[in-house]
Amino acid sequence: MSFNRDHLPDPVSYFESEGLVLKGKGKWRTTSCAFHGGSDSMRVHLERGAFMCMACAAKGGDVLAYHQAAHGLGFIDAAKALGAWVEDGTPHTGSTRPTPIPARLLLESVAQELTVAALVASDMVRQASISETDKERLIKAAGRIRYVADIANAHRA
Ligand SMILES: [Zn+2]
Repeated sequence: MSFNRDHLPDPVSYFESEGLVLKGKGKWRTTSCAFHGGSDSMRVHLERGAFMCMACAAKGGDVLAYHQAAHGLGFIDAAKALGAWVEDGTPHTGSTRPTPIPARLLLESVAQELTVAALVASDMVRQASISETDKERLIKAAGRIRYVADIANAHRA
């Protein structure tokens, strides 16, 4: 018996099947957090299925980790539910811990927040002023970058 990552569902169709509406551009999309009920604090990665809430502790490296957390399932039960558990007659030897977010993806999310900040900055230059909304966007983006940096530091410890 073994876990076959190739059998995990495509992240976009998986998250949509969980009732999430994915918004925004780039590899990290914005959606609501099913864990604490936030309306737009969750980021999900289109290719890897990684997820990270900017407001609560929910995060993980793939749709399997999400399914475990969202439905309170163990690794094997979640893998079975997602069709990624293969009965091949051999005993299971791999790890059954939820997959953590790779540091590279954390960096990508920082890059995406910085893109937001850069867009706001270029608007400011054009208008020679900054609106309250833009100020809020900048402060939010800066806060998220700090948050992701903290997660990356916790990874290293
Ligand atoms: Zn949350």
